[in-house]
Amino acid sequence: MLGKKLSGRSWLMKKTVTNDGHHVELAANIGTPKDLEGVHQNGGEGIGLYRTEFLYMGRNDFPSEEEQFEAYKAVLEGMSGKPVVVRTLDIGGDKELPYLELPKEMNPFLGYRAIRLCLNEQEIFRTQLRALLRASIYGDLKIMFPMIATLAEFREAKAVLAEVRQELLDNGIQVAEKIEVGIMVEIPSTAVMADIFAKEVDFFSIGTNDLIQYTMAADRMNERVSYLYQPYNPAILRLVKMVIDAAHKEGKWAGMCGEMAGDEVAIPILIGLGLDEFSMSATSILKARSLISQLSLEEMKKLSQEVLGLDTNDNVKEAVVNALKK
Ligand code: PEP
Ligand code: MG
Repeated sequence: MLGKKLSGRSWLMKKTVTNDGHHVELAANIGTPKDLEGVHQNGGEGIGLYRTEFLYMGRNDFPSEEEQFEAYKAVLEGMSGKPVVVRTLDIGGDKELPYLELPKEMNPFLGYRAIRLCLNEQEIFRTQLRALLRASIYGDLKIMFPMIATLAEFREAKAVLAEVRQELLDNGIQVAEKIEVGIMVEIPSTAVMADIFAKEVDFFSIGTNDLIQYTMAADRMNERVSYLYQPYNPAILRLVKMVIDAAHKEGKWAGMCGEMAGDEVAIPILIGLGLDEFSMSATSILKARSLISQLSLEEMKKLSQEVLGLDTNDNVKEAVVNALKK
């Protein structure tokens, strides 16, 4: 099956469709507006993850609301109405800011980071949300909160967003009428509770880099336990399935923006599980589009059913590789 690859460039302007007509969206992960060039050169159908923390890094002070507004506007305009999922600040863990003093932690990946920090240091959060909402009229903005572990966190983040929106409207500032609000699913508690979350979010994006580290209890920065980064482990696949099924049951969409979304062994399984959006580094998009065009949704559904019942990461990988050889 994989022998039939066409040259990369011929996939540039095409939609991403399986050989039996099932469409999925291939989006790109970006860190700055400068990355848009690569997204266009590689046929990205949207931005599935804009990691806004890069705006805050490598400098001596917080970026102002105006500076943030300009960056978000540039990305939204640059994508000409295609979807742009902007993740609110995900700092902490391995990413530090020299101008934000935080106490040293024993386990920074389990500590004070991302939405936990933003809900506590609300001026930082509100400034970013103001900039995002002001930029929302320039394209199809979707806002995504990182590291959500509980419904209370999501509800609180949404309430802050609603307050900021109302303040802007009260001051006569225009805001897009409909902005989808979703969450990253990267903590196992949230994957397990996806059916409940799905009633309140507009979308999920599965952050497998963290979801795998937390599910396997294996620090993603520690090479000695890197063998536990097992994207095809049925434990991970079952969580992914729960999230996708929960989203669909409520008529919502489910994407993935961790490395796994661009992985050629994972893609056939994810197609079979019904993932709607795959967000990856721009340079992986054309290869993924070529691969997906050679897959049949019906066959991948059977394959994903089969691998969910297997026992190990390696055996799942082998089953997928063998199925693709046929
Ligand atoms: C993830 O955790 O999968 C993810 C996409 O976020 P980051 O890699 O930025 O933590
Ligand atoms: Mg993450």
